[in-house]
Amino acid sequence: MIKGLGIDLGTTYSCVAYIDENGKPVVLKNSEGKATTPSVVYFETKDKVIVGEIAKQSLVSEPDNTVAFIKRDMGKIDEDTKQPIMRTIQGIQMSPQEISAKILTKIVKDANAELRMIGKLSDSDPDVKDVVITCPAYFGMAEREATKVAGKIAGLNVVNIIPEPTAAALNYAYVSQVKQKTFMVYDLGGGTFDVTIIEMNNGIPRVICTDGSHTLGGKDWDEMLVQYFAEKYLEEKGEDVRENLDILQELFLKAEQTKITLSSRETAPVMIIGDAGRLNFTMTRTEFDEKTKELLERSLSYIDNCLKIAAAKKYKKEDETITNEEVNKYLSENISDILLVGGSSKMPQVSKLISERYGIEPKEADLDEAVAKGAAICASTEFTGFSEEDWQLVKESVGEHEFDVVKEAIQTGNENVIKQFEDVLPRHMVQKQESRGMIFTNVSPRTYGTSAYDSSASDKLVIFNFIKRNDELPKKLTQSFYTREEGQSGVDIDLYESFSMSAKTELEDGTKIGSGVLDFPHGMPKGTCIEVTINMNSAGLLEVSAFHKETNSVYNGTFDVSNSLSPEETKQAIERNKQQSFS
Ligand code: ADP
Ligand code: MG
Repeated sequence: MIKGLGIDLGTTYSCVAYIDENGKPVVLKNSEGKATTPSVVYFETKDKVIVGEIAKQSLVSEPDNTVAFIKRDMGKIDEDTKQPIMRTIQGIQMSPQEISAKILTKIVKDANAELRMIGKLSDSDPDVKDVVITCPAYFGMAEREATKVAGKIAGLNVVNIIPEPTAAALNYAYVSQVKQKTFMVYDLGGGTFDVTIIEMNNGIPRVICTDGSHTLGGKDWDEMLVQYFAEKYLEEKGEDVRENLDILQELFLKAEQTKITLSSRETAPVMIIGDAGRLNFTMTRTEFDEKTKELLERSLSYIDNCLKIAAAKKYKKEDETITNEEVNKYLSENISDILLVGGSSKMPQVSKLISERYGIEPKEADLDEAVAKGAAICASTEFTGFSEEDWQLVKESVGEHEFDVVKEAIQTGNENVIKQFEDVLPRHMVQKQESRGMIFTNVSPRTYGTSAYDSSASDKLVIFNFIKRNDELPKKLTQSFYTREEGQSGVDIDLYESFSMSAKTELEDGTKIGSGVLDFPHGMPKGTCIEVTINMNSAGLLEVSAFHKETNSVYNGTFDVSNSLSPEETKQAIERNKQQSFS
């Protein structure tokens, strides 16, 4: 029986895998016979959606109806409207969640067709809809939530969202039967880069720390080449092809092709056709490496920082006080392997420079597929202990109406919700999270805190941070705050996310991600103390509570992502998705 699919929903390419009957992770080909599908969506009409290679071609011919790099907008809010960044295509206003859902729908549809073709599903079997989707390690709550919603719009049951490097590490450890090791995962994709240090403990990955950039990826290497090509053409032919959008788009495709050729060959022929005629020349790998060296160096600076944080954790020191010797000591005594992940890691310059700099020959196996395979491993272990009958029991005890919420809470370990239903749920399903399939020890992707006045006398709101980026999870912290007005009947609890590493952050450096109110039964004297607690569990789920002892007033919020879609918007998107045809 196939328990679930693992999905690498990439910025530029996506991939689906499952675990076969021998327990081996296997990638499922799409309907074009390829292991990966470009994450590009083309709306041919409002009901006809094309995803993948053909859509990529339409980027040039029909840019208004084609979307690429949608992952960069996931969970982001428009500064002006304070709403998800919407775009109107073929007359429909769509969120990034909805557009991502198109990619998911197409690749899951193809994966199921492939499973039927290779005889793993029979005609009478329903499609596999349970999935684990991966996301970058730096994705915050809003982005993770948006990814989940995308799955929901695509009609999928998203069992878990796990970080991409964790998935890659899981795959490596699983396939090579490693149980106890620490490694670094270097993931250079199409538009993003991240580096993560992961410790495997009894086959369970534990993220030690992670760093990276959302604006560094293969696309930047392409851009470097585009500029070079354009300047060369300008020099030789006197025309700036960058002014012609059609030629420029073509130039981008050509640049990517040249880059890919140079990964396997020393030279690549280039031909540029502009209004001033044709220009032919040869590009060598050496030239390419020289022109892009600065980009590669940038990725290494994130490695250095990540090593520094890991060393600080290991030697129990502050990040700033770690010396180069300690970093080197950490590297040589702890990191046993460097795994390369992501299409751009295929550029020979990557492993060359890494091995020169860190003295470890990086491993390049499964570059394009490791993340999806790791997600599949997670999907296959996710439900251990819970059968269909178990879920049926849950449905009977909590009722149809609450079932989805409770199921999700059990799967993600949302203790707040589970607690509410503790009395009616089957006992074995409310046990501690550790017994529920595979659980990852993780670190916080961002810094979280609540806003409050800087001091009782000041009029300035700042963010008081509770959980910091790269803090080990689960983490729980309580801080006391005091009311500022006489007779106050409640307190606003506003939750903020940021990249800050200090105890306090300016309000404008954070993003508000949720809010709630603690109501008092009656007006309270000025200076009433309330205790605010923020708790993040190992699955990265955030719980916030505020408490006033004397009146026993409590506010409990399980995380509500304020920039998510409304239930109505989600419903409409689900309906539209059902109406559309996908190829
Ligand atoms: P993402 O995870 O961001 O979706 P991928 O890991 O699939 O991205 O990587 C996509 C990037 O890898 C693109 O920029 C693509 O041009 C680049 N790429 C793919 N194959 C090669 C190759 N052989 N050599 C160099 N770059 C490559
Ligand atoms: Mg990727």
